[in-house]
Amino acid sequence: MFDESKKLFEEAKKYIVGGVNSPVRAFKSVGIDPIFIKNAKGAYLYSEDDRQFIDYVSSFGPNILGHANNTIVNKVKAALENGFTYGACTKAEVDLAKRIVETFDSVELTRFVNSGTEAVMSAIRLARGFTQRENCLKFKGCYHGHYDGMLVGAGSGAATFGVPTSKGVIEDIAKHTLICEYNDFDAVKKIFQDYGHTIACVIVEPIAANMGVVLPKPGFLQFLRDITYQYNSLLIFDEVITGFRACYGGIQTLENIKPDLTILGKIIGGGFPLAMYGGNRDIMSLVSPEGPVYQAGTLSGNPIAVQAGIATLDMLKNTNPYNQLKLNTQILVSRTMGLANTYDIPLSENSFGSCFTFFFTENKPTNYPEVLKSNERLFKNFFLGMIKRGIYFAPSQFEANFLSTAHTKKDIEITINAAEEIFKELKDA
Ligand code: PMP
Repeated sequence: MFDESKKLFEEAKKYIVGGVNSPVRAFKSVGIDPIFIKNAKGAYLYSEDDRQFIDYVSSFGPNILGHANNTIVNKVKAALENGFTYGACTKAEVDLAKRIVETFDSVELTRFVNSGTEAVMSAIRLARGFTQRENCLKFKGCYHGHYDGMLVGAGSGAATFGVPTSKGVIEDIAKHTLICEYNDFDAVKKIFQDYGHTIACVIVEPIAANMGVVLPKPGFLQFLRDITYQYNSLLIFDEVITGFRACYGGIQTLENIKPDLTILGKIIGGGFPLAMYGGNRDIMSLVSPEGPVYQAGTLSGNPIAVQAGIATLDMLKNTNPYNQLKLNTQILVSRTMGLANTYDIPLSENSFGSCFTFFFTENKPTNYPEVLKSNERLFKNFFLGMIKRGIYFAPSQFEANFLSTAHTKKDIEITINAAEEIFKELKDA
């Protein structure tokens, strides 16, 4: 079925480690070779095997307006004529920064970088510089990019010093990352009681999307805001996935909580490499050249990426697609849940805005250990059944899926019908 992709994967492995430029693309957890994409338009991906897929991966989040949106294409084409990168200031980067500052109450000053990883690394360095403290608290199952200090899992128990989850991350770095279970109020309280005066910052995905979607319990984000205030630690909202996802703003906008630092990526680059960290003037003024915390970048604020970002944000603002996106997502999720019930398939879901994960377990997960209870075999069969039917879901149980404004009612209907066929097969198996 995927002969051309298979050939290309063999060729890729000769020149690219593992044949991929990011691990989840290898499809390891679903047991097939990766599908090579030739091009994409709107809600659809087209593979080198000339197969079409309804795409729910959305490049892991940036393409909220679908692939190759015409307005963005035209803006980018025009920008290309003017040169690709200058290593100098541009009006466009000011225009994009202004849009973000005007939207996020917590952000007075911004700094653009090229990836979420870079933004997180810079924000944590800044938090340490500002507070003159060394430790950082993160939550198990939250992903904040592959900066060394964030590649840290839990040791034994909920509240402990981290141990590296990647070879090459040295203990001396890992020990400065403290770990708690997501949504565990008591563990956070305890860790602050024990180590509060050493904690520079708490970093959190305000809705977790990297262990699949997991929602914060009521009051959890406000609790993090209160306890960080109490101990003079900074609160960092990593809104790389949630930024401009469920409203023109972030989860902080919807929840009315002001973190000290905010990280954005994905949507703000419209599919090009762009991310940002920002916060209030007091904190951000410590960043070079204003202050002593160094951070720089050859391609930072790249003019092409910035134009794609501006075009994306302006379309989101002008068309306000958020209610429709949410409605479409709810139709897809609730009807699929109903079918799972009919066919006795253990399924739960977590979703927000246009972002969702199906978990093959009875109960909605609220943290990482609960996510791990989901049935990997059923997930794999679901994924492969969808691929066979031309529908491309995230190739891991621990990822979010995304709807874009390009997905039609018909696409959703096709997906629901495919889910019914798969559930029936699973029940009969
Ligand atoms: N933070 C979050 C919440 C993310 O989802 C990701 C990437 N999926 C990152 C940080 C890292 O971003 P990047 O892949 O651009 O380095």
